[in-house]
Amino acid sequence: MFGKDFQRKYALTDQGVKNVKAGALWTVVVNLVVMGGMGILYLLMLRFMDTLTENAPLPEAWPFLAMVLAFVALSFVAHVQQYKATYGLVYSEVKNVRIRLAERLRKLPLGFFGNRDLADLTETLMGDVNRLEHVWSHCLGYLYGSYISTAVIAVALLVYDWRLALAALWGVPVAFALLFGSRRLAKRNSEITKAARLQASDGIQEMLENIREIRATNQEDRFLQQLNSKIDYHEKTSIKGELTVGIFVNAASVIMRLGVATTILTGANLILSGKIDFMLLFMFLLVITRVYAPFDQALALIAEMFVSQVSASRLMEIEDTPVADGAEEFHPAGHDIEFQNVSFSYDNKEVLHDVSFTAKEGEVTALVGPSGSGKSTCARLAARLWDIDSGRISVGGVDISTVDPEVLLSDYAMVFQDVMLFDDTVMENIRLGRHGATDEEVRAAARAANCDEFVQKLPDGYDTPIGENGAKLSGGERQRISIARALLKNAPIVLLDEATASLDVENESKVQAALSRLLAGKTVLVIAHRMRTVQSADKVVVLAEGKVAEQGSPVELLAMDGIFAHMVRLQTQGQSWTIGK
Ligand code: ADP
Repeated sequence: MFGKDFQRKYALTDQGVKNVKAGALWTVVVNLVVMGGMGILYLLMLRFMDTLTENAPLPEAWPFLAMVLAFVALSFVAHVQQYKATYGLVYSEVKNVRIRLAERLRKLPLGFFGNRDLADLTETLMGDVNRLEHVWSHCLGYLYGSYISTAVIAVALLVYDWRLALAALWGVPVAFALLFGSRRLAKRNSEITKAARLQASDGIQEMLENIREIRATNQEDRFLQQLNSKIDYHEKTSIKGELTVGIFVNAASVIMRLGVATTILTGANLILSGKIDFMLLFMFLLVITRVYAPFDQALALIAEMFVSQVSASRLMEIEDTPVADGAEEFHPAGHDIEFQNVSFSYDNKEVLHDVSFTAKEGEVTALVGPSGSGKSTCARLAARLWDIDSGRISVGGVDISTVDPEVLLSDYAMVFQDVMLFDDTVMENIRLGRHGATDEEVRAAARAANCDEFVQKLPDGYDTPIGENGAKLSGGERQRISIARALLKNAPIVLLDEATASLDVENESKVQAALSRLLAGKTVLVIAHRMRTVQSADKVVVLAEGKVAEQGSPVELLAMDGIFAHMVRLQTQGQSWTIGK
């Protein structure tokens, strides 16, 4: 009952399964102790009836008193233990599951995060785990304990009087059949609601992020309308989901309770035909009210359990994504990056085919090609942000797929277009390059990256907060901060994505000067957009549709008069046309 499937279905840790077992066990004990209480009541009634009908002397009080005391003591202990095993232990389970997830996320290939909607991921870590927490604490032990204790009690009742037992308990399987029948519906509703909630929160986020553009283009009304309809849709799906579940749960509860009526009818018939006496019927009625009680609560929970399985499967999806791990040691012989027959796919769509080239240490290797040809992908693969399908990528002769990504990345500095800046001071944003660098080292890197001059103009210099994702800085300034970071890191391999769009001429030459300091003596792989970079590169790799079309020094490639020569001609023509105009 509590095997691997169960563990996966509710995303439990090993310890969590043990907790559920303990919770179920103590629930059984609690339910049986409560039944014991009913037994005492029954015995007491029996003795009083004797006194009334046969004029027997009043029973002595002390045996009953002793029984009641024992019942209270047992009941207390059982309830305390049940509480500990369910509510008490669940908090450590929640903590363990979150830690396990966080560890997992830390080891997942970095590309995973580029592909995932981050709102969705946060929802899993926070929302899904919260929903599961409720199921772990309130449902599992309780429900499974109730299954077991009801089975025990049902057997006892059947042995006692099968006719009354059937009349009392027929509703239980029917109610559960109804609920399990509605399970698919509940799950589907929950998936729809969840998707609607994500859409609504994505909508809000999008609106907030783009508020400037939306205002500037006078599109507020249109956006608000769209957002309203998303939120309305979420509300509708939520109500519909709750309502469907509510109808089934209440119907199940009513059906189960019909057992009281059928017991009374059957019992009355049996008494009239002299087959049983009134006290037996009385005992059955006492017992079945208690059999229904735990199930009543369980019925409300079971709907929640169906829904929680959606949360659990989202959680397991993260657990099932293969992690990128490898050796903690990385001792390459030099830092040449070599791609050998590399093929790679995003979501089963192959975007690189049989790519081979070498980026030598101390040289600048430029990746060029039309948009979508695979330049960024090559740069990401060189740092093992994804793992490749076939072929081999090595650094200094070491296959990078055998090295732990965290260890590997300590040899890389990346200056990409989408610079990630944090809402912290300039100083701390640069210090991210090397944890533990002194203020003086940070300043030196900033000077070398030509940041000093604009930082001095900020109200608090290096201690000025730069706003979320550097909102208070220009594109060129942001890029220089990321160069300063890379300079501070001083890693032997630099991956660089040139972005020209946001730079004006003055900025561009400053960025260029900063870059040449960063690149000296390193293995440099650059996604090149500027002709100047391309022409001064030691080597050019031309990509077209995910294949290496040409490679060699710029001079060699010009002489070949192929794609590269064509591109250079187009660019220079474009420039002269601009100047001419
Ligand atoms: P480039 O940098 O030359 O513009 P990319 O390496 O970004 O080219 O893209 C190569 C191909 O891979 C394109 O067809 C692009 O649509 C696809 N691609 C890029 N990133 C992803 C991703 N994260 N998921 C799926 N496909 C992607």
